[in-house]
Amino acid sequence: MSFLSINHTIVDTVVFDFDGTLAKLNIDFDLMRRNIAELISRYGVEHQSLRHKYVLEIIEETAAILQNTSPSKSQAFTKDALRVIEDMEVEAAGSGELFAGTKKLLTTLREHSVRTGIITRNCVRAVHMIFPDISAYCKTVVCRDHVQRVKPHPEQLNLALSYLKARPERSLMIGDHPLDIETGHNAGALSAGVLTGRCRKEDFLTAGADIVFQEATDIIRLLK
Ligand SMILES: [Mg+2]
Repeated sequence: MSFLSINHTIVDTVVFDFDGTLAKLNIDFDLMRRNIAELISRYGVEHQSLRHKYVLEIIEETAAILQNTSPSKSQAFTKDALRVIEDMEVEAAGSGELFAGTKKLLTTLREHSVRTGIITRNCVRAVHMIFPDISAYCKTVVCRDHVQRVKPHPEQLNLALSYLKARPERSLMIGDHPLDIETGHNAGALSAGVLTGRCRKEDFLTAGADIVFQEATDIIRLLK
């Protein structure tokens, strides 16, 4: 059985983010936020008053505000908002693709008995469009649809680690966004950034990443 050595720590489990880490990032999050902002004003909520910066949390916050005055309006809003983002995710997935080295990476880690999982804020439908045979390469996939609270809340990573019977202190969370680093911290795991999304090395170091790779396949070099 092999392991990865990261800053002298033994890692036997790797949990990947999906978009920007294993697959090309082609979701326009700025447009998604604008579309949701428009929907929020149609429901009469002052968008400027919202605290959160990520779209799923903005939706949750807005639903909580609407819940105070009209539970049915809140429910209708959540349904509309999730449809807006799912439509955008599925449309992006239609022209999405895995990075060239992704299948080889997952296969190599399995051959070395390193446990692997995938957690994503994306929906299961879009993930399966981009990676239809995902279960042949990775059995533990936790999408937005599978949890109450998505990352950076630790629920998704904790769930993946429990499926994998993995210990957080021997696990690495790897992703293309500082929120993946935060997720690793929140679950007590190590964390790594990759530069295949839209963030820079400094963003990951500021977020407290243990290591930053050019791309996810670079972790193969750390196999012992
Ligand atoms: Mg990502």
